[in-house]
Amino acid sequence: MEPCDIAVIGAGAAGLTAAIFAADTARQQRGPHALPRIVVLDGAKTIGAKILVSGGGRCNVTHAEVTPADFNGSRNIVRNVLAAFDGTATRRWLASLGVELKREDSGKLFPVTDSARTVLEALLRRCMDLDVSVRPRHRVSVLRRGPLPAQDPAPFILDHASGRLSATRVILATGGRSLPRTGSDGGGWDLARSCGHSVTDTYPALVPLVLRAGMFHRELSGLSQPVALSVFADGTRIDHQRGSMLWTHFGISGPVVLDVSRHWVLAQARGQRVELRCNFLPGWDFEQTDAWLRSVAAQRPRLSLGRCLADRLAARLALALAQSAGCAAATPVAQLTREQRRQVVHACTDFLLPVERDRGWNYAEVTAGGVPLEEVDYRTMESRKAPGLHLAGEMLACDGRIGGFNFQWAWATGYLAGRAAASGICANARAARRPDSAP
Ligand SMILES: Cc1cc2nc3c(=O)[nH]c(=O)nc-3n(C[C@H](O)[C@H](O)[C@H](O)COP(=O)(O)OP(=O)(O)OC[C@H]3O[C@@H](n4cnc5c(N)ncnc54)[C@H](O)[C@@H]3O)c2cc1C
Repeated sequence: MEPCDIAVIGAGAAGLTAAIFAADTARQQRGPHALPRIVVLDGAKTIGAKILVSGGGRCNVTHAEVTPADFNGSRNIVRNVLAAFDGTATRRWLASLGVELKREDSGKLFPVTDSARTVLEALLRRCMDLDVSVRPRHRVSVLRRGPLPAQDPAPFILDHASGRLSATRVILATGGRSLPRTGSDGGGWDLARSCGHSVTDTYPALVPLVLRAGMFHRELSGLSQPVALSVFADGTRIDHQRGSMLWTHFGISGPVVLDVSRHWVLAQARGQRVELRCNFLPGWDFEQTDAWLRSVAAQRPRLSLGRCLADRLAARLALALAQSAGCAAATPVAQLTREQRRQVVHACTDFLLPVERDRGWNYAEVTAGGVPLEEVDYRTMESRKAPGLHLAGEMLACDGRIGGFNFQWAWATGYLAGRAAASGICANARAARRPDSAP
């Protein structure tokens, strides 16, 4: 059995960050000559697949403004985690690894190279410089405490694809279930359970939504536009977001759809009556839109409904909305009956999108749910169930909105877990060196 000081399970954003901060902290506390053995085990054939596909291959590493309100999860705990390692800390740290960032108008931060590979390579380079051993094809199947030894607590025993390893501290960073082909298939939660943790129900979040066949989404495929979306559950509005929506061959996607999707998915799972309503003229309500159509009818009576709507909407969408309101697009605006006009206004400002289902784990960017945050100490990410075990990243019950927040969560929890695990190891070493310690 191979002994090590710290075993990190999962070499995604959280696991690699944890390993780097563990090694850095140990170097600061012990000096460069008595470094702990840190091993990162990952089940995937190649390391970092999810980092490479993130942000459309550009990796949106964080956001210019990160606040607890950008996350779903126990607000107080999220606040404390972010206070320990915020967006500024992320920027400084990535700069120290040689990753220069640029800010886009939306506030999203990307590497200046526009390549996620820059981020992955910087993380792996730092691991190598710090003698952290990163091992692909090492899926961990069992995590347990060893038999009671002279040492207290007993080290952890890990069974992995190539053998067995013992570790004084373990950092569990196995991700959630989003994009399982990258290696994050939810199996890591079984390891957490085997150490006494609970895991909430989990759902795809930041996921595209599939619309009922026969809706006009196919004709609009590829079209992107600003909208306001509201999710209603049993008649109560539970979420409202403005942003860009993309029509696709299966339904809808784009930042605003991904952001509201978790609320739709969770309400649906609770068995509530869920509705997704869209305002195609964000900022305009029913009355304002009605007043606009009436003024057009008065000033340009012969203008067709299709041309009129196309002043404010993409022509293809204008046509589709006129049809769904039961009006021919060629009808002059002034000839619309009051009822027809109201139907058109309704279609433009309060359109019921017939969502059938979410697009599933293969298309979700993140997981809603996981190990409850209350089961870890937010100062160290140490388990309250199994001392010496730390948890980090997406496997915890916290998910961020679109914009770099999920990586921010991975960096911040990785930082806390890595630093604390190393401090624990160094404290043990100091205690063992004290003259009055047991022979
Ligand atoms: C398509 C896509 C685009 C995204 N874009 C962005 C973006 O631009 N910005 C952003 O902030 N977020 C983005 N995200 C979300 C973000 O990538 C994740 O939240 C983040 O990578 C989670 O990091 P993690 O380290 O916790 O988990 P993961 O990256 O999922 O890593 C977990 C690792 O654990 C390994 N593993 C699992 N089980 C075991 C086991 N039993 N033994 C050993 N290893 C195991 C897996 O192989 C995996 O490598 C995106 C996600 C997707 C799917």
